[in-house]
Amino acid sequence: MTSFFIPTETLQIRIFTHLKINALQCNVNAGTYKVLADGQQVAESKGESIFKMTLKNDSIELLQNEKIIGSFKYIKFTGEDLGELKVKLLNPDRKIRTYQNNLSFAVNENYLRLINEVILDNYIAGVTEAEAGSRSTQEFYKVQAILARTFALAHINKHVIEGFSLCDQVHCQAYYGKPKDLTIFNAIEYTKGKVVVDDNLNLIVAAFHSNSGGQTANSEDVWGSKTNYLRSINDSFSVKMPNARWERKMLTEDWLTYLKLKHNYPTEIDEAKNIALNFKQDARKVFLECNNTKVPLKNIRLDLQLKSTFFSISEINKDSILFRGRGYGHGLGMCQEGAMKMCKLGYKYTDILNFYYKNIQLIDMSKLNFFKDE
Ligand SMILES: [Zn+2]
Repeated sequence: MTSFFIPTETLQIRIFTHLKINALQCNVNAGTYKVLADGQQVAESKGESIFKMTLKNDSIELLQNEKIIGSFKYIKFTGEDLGELKVKLLNPDRKIRTYQNNLSFAVNENYLRLINEVILDNYIAGVTEAEAGSRSTQEFYKVQAILARTFALAHINKHVIEGFSLCDQVHCQAYYGKPKDLTIFNAIEYTKGKVVVDDNLNLIVAAFHSNSGGQTANSEDVWGSKTNYLRSINDSFSVKMPNARWERKMLTEDWLTYLKLKHNYPTEIDEAKNIALNFKQDARKVFLECNNTKVPLKNIRLDLQLKSTFFSISEINKDSILFRGRGYGHGLGMCQEGAMKMCKLGYKYTDILNFYYKNIQLIDMSKLNFFKDE
């Protein structure tokens, strides 16, 4: 069993991961911060100062209220638990965001690299808003908070080789700093420490998607590996929600050429052609198939950028076809729109998790043996 570090205090989250940052501004929004540069304290601030950092050669030039403090390799703003900082990227230009707890700045591959050293629950709050939106119900926030915590702990070492825990992109979990809806912190507190485990007490892969179209998918049909908790279920809660249905027109010739060239599907055979032009799914299928040729629907979805694999095809006229699809996303685990509907109908977060994930338990993360060092 691998030993596991329990992040009761802080996580290292790389922020603005996808951007090549050359210059930014930073000021204290709450609390008192010490500014450390290459290990020495160079300033202290309660919000009266604006700090500007600009990449010059392979160092960071630090200014306090337009006065140069110096050039450094590594700058860290370290504050008390309730501290928060406002960060405004100047190059590239981006809107102000608020980050809680500590922030560090270093030069990495010719650009500035920002790491938010953040208390776990503050990070979970930010992810909850990024994933659930800022106008949701408390009950839905609770569900997303538990999934965000489960994902964070299960993937805590995802970027360890690069020197941080998780990035702030969907590659890990979307995180844009402190949430705007402060009631999210109530949902975090209410679900404090709770994570979802499978029947072997392993943290689950907390997959979710926008809309299931009325039926969720099996993990082996999407990701290739079977789990006891990502099982296909009928989901009536999602069917009247905004992303339940979609349509896409396509030229018949384009569709058949795609199948032939990309998948060697035998479109020259009438029977095969007929199947391809009148493909139907009442329940989720995994392949478009004819005799020995099986085309994975997940590949079709990816190649044609369809909202889901849960589609049927009909001919509109001799030149074109219509994809009529259900749902949005990979279809695994929780359907967000269905879960929101369940919240409206009065279901609790525990009902929702047990509906969308099978054979699971909710436990406190401190009870997991494998958190402890061996
Ligand atoms: Zn990542």
